[in-house]
Formats: sequence, C-alpha cells, structure tokens
Amino acid sequence: MSTVTSEAAVVEAVPHVLYIDGEWRPASGGAVLTVEDPATGEGLCEIADATVDDALAALGAADVAFRSFRDMPARDRGDILRRAYEAMIEQADDLALIMTLEMGKPVAESKAEVLYAAAYLRWYAEEAVRINGRFGPHENGGNYVLTMEQPVGPCLFITPWNFPLAMGTRKIGPAVAAGCTVVVKPAQQTPLCMLALAKIFEEAGLPAGVLNVVTASKSGSTMAPLISDPRLRKLSFTGSTEIGKRLIAQAADQVLRVSMELGGNAPFLVFEDADLDKAVEGALVAKMRNMGEACTSANRFHVHESVAGEFSERLAAAMGDLPVGRGTEDGVRVGPLIDEPSREKVSELVADAVDKGANVVTGGEPTGDRGYFYKPTVLAGVPQDARVLTEEIFGPVAPVITFADDDEAIAAANATEYGLAAYVFAQDIGRAFHVIDRLETGMIGFNQGMVSNAGAPFGGVKQSGFGREGGPEGLKEYLSTKYVAMNVG
Ligand code: NAP
Repeated sequence: MSTVTSEAAVVEAVPHVLYIDGEWRPASGGAVLTVEDPATGEGLCEIADATVDDALAALGAADVAFRSFRDMPARDRGDILRRAYEAMIEQADDLALIMTLEMGKPVAESKAEVLYAAAYLRWYAEEAVRINGRFGPHENGGNYVLTMEQPVGPCLFITPWNFPLAMGTRKIGPAVAAGCTVVVKPAQQTPLCMLALAKIFEEAGLPAGVLNVVTASKSGSTMAPLISDPRLRKLSFTGSTEIGKRLIAQAADQVLRVSMELGGNAPFLVFEDADLDKAVEGALVAKMRNMGEACTSANRFHVHESVAGEFSERLAAAMGDLPVGRGTEDGVRVGPLIDEPSREKVSELVADAVDKGANVVTGGEPTGDRGYFYKPTVLAGVPQDARVLTEEIFGPVAPVITFADDDEAIAAANATEYGLAAYVFAQDIGRAFHVIDRLETGMIGFNQGMVSNAGAPFGGVKQSGFGREGGPEGLKEYLSTKYVAMNVG
C-alpha cells in the first residue's frame, strides 16, 4: 500500500478477502460480513466471511509451510520481521486511519498503537537470532546434557477488537521469530487492520502459508474444527475470560499448548503520600486510553480517605474536559465505544452504582446523535456492592472508593477473580514495594499509568490468564525444549 489520505481510499486499499497459502481469495461460499464505523453506526465495507472449509484450508497451508519454514535461517526470519516493521512505520498514517475507522479510537491513539504494534516485530526481529539451547556435563560425569529450542508448530491466534494490530503482532512476531506458522482470526468488528498487516508481511517476503488470515462471523463454529485438528500445536487467545474458558476446555482434548490473555479488573491505588499531580495524570492514561476499552484499564480507583475528595475532583475536571467525537476529527480525545451492547452495559453499570448510592461527579450518560459515544464519567462514594467494582467496565467510567490503611487497600485490590494489571501511586518506596509484593496481578504500573512495552512480559494471573507476550518470555511461548542425553563414549 502506498500512502493515501481519504477514508474511502484507505479502506479500499486493504484486501477484503481471506489470505490463505499466500493467495487472496473470497470465502468458499461467497458470503461476506459488514464492517461498521462505530462513530456513525454505518457500514464501512464488506469482507469475506469464511466457512469451516476455508479455515481448514488455512490450517492445511500452515501445516505444509511449517515443514520448510522451521528450517529457514533465523537471520532470514528476523530480516522479514524487520522489513515488516519498517513497512508498518512507513504506512503508520494509513494504518492508523484504518484502525480509527473500524474501531473508533482517536487517530493519535491509533497511531500510537501502530507504533507499539510495530515495536513487537522489531523486538522479535532482533531476538530471532538468539534462540539457543544449552550444553553441559551430566552431574555424574561421563555423559552430557544437550538441549535444543524448537518451534512449537502451526498456531491458531484469535484476537480481539480493542487493539486490532498490537494483539496480532505480539503473537505473530515471536511465532515467526521461532519458526512457527500461523492462522489468525481477528475479531469480526476489526478485520481490516489484520488484513492490512498480512499484506505488509506478503510484501516483506514472508513465504506463502506462514501467515494466514481468516475473517469469520461465526467464530465458534469456524474455529472449533481447527482446535480439534491434530495438525494444530498451539492456541493463543486474547479476549474475554468467558470465551477463554471455553477455548481452554476445547484445547484440553488435544492437550494443546495454550496462551490466554484474558479480561481484567485493574485496581488503581493512590496512597496519602502520592504526588497527586502524577496520580491524576496516570489515572487519565490508565482510564482513558482506548476510551477505557483496554484489559489493563483502571477499573476502580482505591484512594486513601484523606485525599479521595481532592483526587476525585481533579480527575473529574480532567476527564470532563476531554473532547468526545469521531476519532478522525481534530482534537478529539475520546472516540465511540465499539457497539451499542457495549454502551448499554456501561449505562447499566453506572445506573446500578447510582441506585446503590454513588454520586456522579462528571458525565454519567451517553452522548452524540449517532454512533456509540458515552461521556467520560467519574463516580464518587461508590458502595462496595456496586457491580462497577467487580465487572470489567470497558468504558470511560472511573469509580472512586476510599481506604483507611495499606492492609485494607491490598485486600480490596485483590478481592477479584481477575489478576492482570494494577497501579500504585506512592512516594515511600518501602511502602510501595510492600504493596507491589502483595498484589495478585501479572503487571504493576508504579507511579505510571501505562505498562505496555514490547520488551516486557505482558500477561496475567488468576482468571486473567496465563502465558506472557513481549520480551524473551514471549518467545518461549513458541518454543519447545528438546533434551538429548549424550553418550559420547
Ligand atoms: P471476546 O468476545 O472474547 O472475543 C475475542 C475473540 O474471540 C474475537 O476474535 C471473537 O470473534 C472470538 N470468539 C468469540 N467467541 C468465540 C468462540 N466461541 N470460539 C472462538 N473464538 C471466539 O472479546 P472481545 O470483546 O473481542 O475483547 C474484549 C476482551 O478482551 C476484554 O475482556 C479484554 O479484557 C480482553 N483483552 C485482554 C487482553 C490481554 O492481553 N489480557 C488484551 C486485550 C483484550 P468475534 O468477535 O468475531 O466473534
């Protein structure tokens, strides 16, 4: 794709069909599904709606391609990733516009995601040549222990709509670096980013069959035959805990290698010694990135009772000032939610909290005459039994509750089945580390509202999943260790 600027042209430049075995082809039944702009509720374009046969053809291509791709020199695999990274950077403006059109986030945030997504390809381009085993003497002498790190095999990736590029590259990057082949099924609401990425990989010289993209409206019935197919060796899923549990059960049948990046309910803790300027700034990032539609989004703000009033007012002032609108418009900081059911869920959670006694400090209602917009909202005095504290909000709503001491804060933060991210704002480093040590999450933002980083292990504990993406840990997910007991006579 060359650089284009108009909305229609940028959508048109993305292939609207499946990418299987290095070929762009329509669905075998000829069916299509409609991609919508959540800022207007109108259709953007139609793309192929795959059948089970198409999905199985994609897995077949990945299986055949694996036999040779596993032997491609690591340097060549790394070079392909590097070229794809460079193409993403070159095409960042177009990719950002596509993302905003199908997903809704403001163009500046889409551009930030493109750069973040590309960073995984660069990181794993550099890591591809550092896949090593080990060699050492047997503890009893005489013989030796040799290990090799080998690619797991054909993988299935199922990705969500909220970060349509980054959730793909943080799986595809390490898989390609390791020598694995891939079938990707993006969310039906945001397929264009993944199709555009496949085109970038095609142009970067990735061999046919190594990356296959299957877009489908019936995700469950189209993916189930792949998960039970013995040619598949690994399933990596990013999405809700509810669907993740179903996929774990399906994967058990074949004892598949599985990585699960699931939902979250991140606590944001503000202690009485915190720098409140930093805490409000961090809260805006942790809450409002992606309109609150992030698994790492701060879901509840636990604030020491001595600073809760001031924190709520300052956060409300900052959030209330954020311009809401279509993500393509200048100056817009908050785009639409992904669809009407998501907006209804946010409305329901706010209504439940207010019914139970919470005060609306700012926002508290939908907005806009079309699309799925909801006003940035701060709720104070939220009672313990409000659903907004226990359910993933996935919207621009910040409920504030108070705590009296550190033990109460830790207990409240951990009182959830989720364990993805948490945020800690405090100046006393000893206290902060005591709290960090006891929080039951896979990631912590300490005096900052963002944890994402291509070189760091992203992932959760408890019902937020298992496995890590990013950093050296992310590569291990695509490698199997083979041990050779060496008798050298
Ligand atoms: P979702 O409903 O679980 O969907 C995720 C993906 O799974 C989509 O591609 C979806 O396809 C597909 N899917 C749905 N049902 C399926 C089934 N029965 N079998 C196979 N695939 C199926 O989640 P979402 O609403 O797209 O994404 C939001 C969720 O993702 C939130 O819970 C968020 O916390 C989580 N998330 C987690 C991370 C992390 O790293 N931990 C990162 C981002 C998001 P269709 O939608 O096309 O049907």
